[in-house]
Amino acid sequence: AVVITGLKKSFGPLEVLKDIDLTVAPGEVVCIIGPSGSGKSTMLRCVNLLEEPTGGKIVVNGVEMTDPDVDIDRARTKIGMVFQGFNLFAHLSVINNLTVAQRKVLKRGEKEAEEVARHNLERVGLSEKANAMPAQLSGGQQQRVAIARALSMSPEVMLFDEPTSALDPELVGDVLGVMRQLADEGMTMLVVTHEMQFAREVADKVLFMDGGYVVEQGPAAEVIGNPQHDRTKSFLARVL
Ligand code: ATP
Ligand code: MG
Repeated sequence: AVVITGLKKSFGPLEVLKDIDLTVAPGEVVCIIGPSGSGKSTMLRCVNLLEEPTGGKIVVNGVEMTDPDVDIDRARTKIGMVFQGFNLFAHLSVINNLTVAQRKVLKRGEKEAEEVARHNLERVGLSEKANAMPAQLSGGQQQRVAIARALSMSPEVMLFDEPTSALDPELVGDVLGVMRQLADEGMTMLVVTHEMQFAREVADKVLFMDGGYVVEQGPAAEVIGNPQHDRTKSFLARVL
């Protein structure tokens, strides 16, 4: 589970997150929507301390990330993250992209790391690309490799920050399909996305952020299908 209470984040004088509360139960999928600059990425990055919160508390599967004494490298290995850009290591083959952190961070042996990697490539439908280089793959394939790489660290929570926004439209479906399958398998997921249909169909809960606040949260059918706040309504009118 991810439990965020009273999260605040400022960059100098700019208050980006003003008071965020969010609970993601084990196996739950929460989609975060909202206009550009509303603080969606910053909130996600606070969860694994890529950004240091200015205030509040974040607990991920019982580990308080905001505790000054937390072993942050260890805690981070439980949290997978996939960004908009594909961020693969360009000089490493697909299989080596998936094994390098397993070996260096988790200290897995070569054989185990490779088994885990092949299993996760199969999960994203790319077994036949194990020996390809990233540049030889389409954007959608690269993003599925990035997901497989994150999964190879055996995360307990997955964070996605607009994972399909940089993709050509015809490649979006494959990536969303992999994410949907992960959700069905019970992965705990926080997903920043503009894909409203995905949010409607897959999210247990949708969170609408604006101006550093959570304006509205609830089941997708309510927040997207029957929004209560004017700001949510006008945002949805622009994206739907
Ligand atoms: P988008 O939909 O465009 O990705 P977002 O909701 O993800 O937007 P954030 O990236 O979280 O928004 O940014 C929120 C605000 O924080 C913006 O005003 C941005 O300029 C500011 N911001 C983000 N990162 C930094 C930083 N490292 N230093 C200063 N300001 C930052
Ligand atoms: Mg963002």
